[in-house]
Amino acid sequence: MEEDKSEKDDYGYHLFPERDPRGRKREPFLSKLYGLKLRCKARMKIAMETSPHVKLLLDAMNQAGCTAYRDRHFTCEECDERVGGGFDSSTSEIVICQNNINDQANMNRMLTHELIHAYDHCRAQVDFLGNIRHLACTEIRAASLSGDCSLTNEMSRFKFGIKQHHQTCVRDRAVRSIMAARKFSQEAAEKAVDEVFESCFHDREPFGRIPHNTAEANMAYKEFRNRGRYYANI
Ligand SMILES: [Zn+2]
Repeated sequence: MEEDKSEKDDYGYHLFPERDPRGRKREPFLSKLYGLKLRCKARMKIAMETSPHVKLLLDAMNQAGCTAYRDRHFTCEECDERVGGGFDSSTSEIVICQNNINDQANMNRMLTHELIHAYDHCRAQVDFLGNIRHLACTEIRAASLSGDCSLTNEMSRFKFGIKQHHQTCVRDRAVRSIMAARKFSQEAAEKAVDEVFESCFHDREPFGRIPHNTAEANMAYKEFRNRGRYYANI
C-alpha cells in the first residue's frame, strides 16, 4: 500500500504475470482461460460460504478493521505453475491461481493460507517486502494453520510422529514459500525461519488452536464467535 518499491527485486511478480506493474493486465476472454476464471471464482465463493477456516478468518479481518470484500480483495489469475496463490501486500489483494487450483479442498486451503497473510498484514503491519523475518513468521503461521501440513495432505511423510511431522512440514514449507517468491538463498530462508519459529509457530491467532481438520476448524470458529460475544457484552 505505502511501500516504496525499488525495481531491483521483482518481489515475485514473475510468478504472477497478470500483476506485473511493468506489463499490462490481460483479460482473457471467451477462451479456456475465461472458463478457468469463472470456475475459480465459483469455488472461491463456495469457500467463503462453507469453509470454517475461511469464514473465521474473514470474521477476524472484519473485527480487526480490515474487512475483505470479495469483489475488491480477491482475484483469480493465471500464474506460474509453481504457485497456487499469493497475497499482494501493495494492493491488499489475494490472488488465487486459477490454472493451479483444481478442486474445492485445494481452494479452501489456499484461500486460508493467503488470508492468514492478509490477517497478519492487517494486524501487525508486517513488512513482507523488506524484512525476511516478518516474511518467515507469516509463512510459518500460514503453513501451520491453513491445513497445508494436515496429515491427509501430507500422508507420505508419515515416518515422523504426528507432532514432529507437523513442525517439520511447517518449517519446510515456510522455507520453500520464502524462496519461491523472493530471491533469498536457502541458507538465509532457513536461518530466518529458525530464528522466529518458536514464537510464530505458537501464535495461533485468530484460531486459538491448530485447526487440523474441518471438525477442529468448526470448533475454532464457534469459539471465535463466542469470544466476540463476550467482548460485545462488556
Ligand atoms: Zn504463503
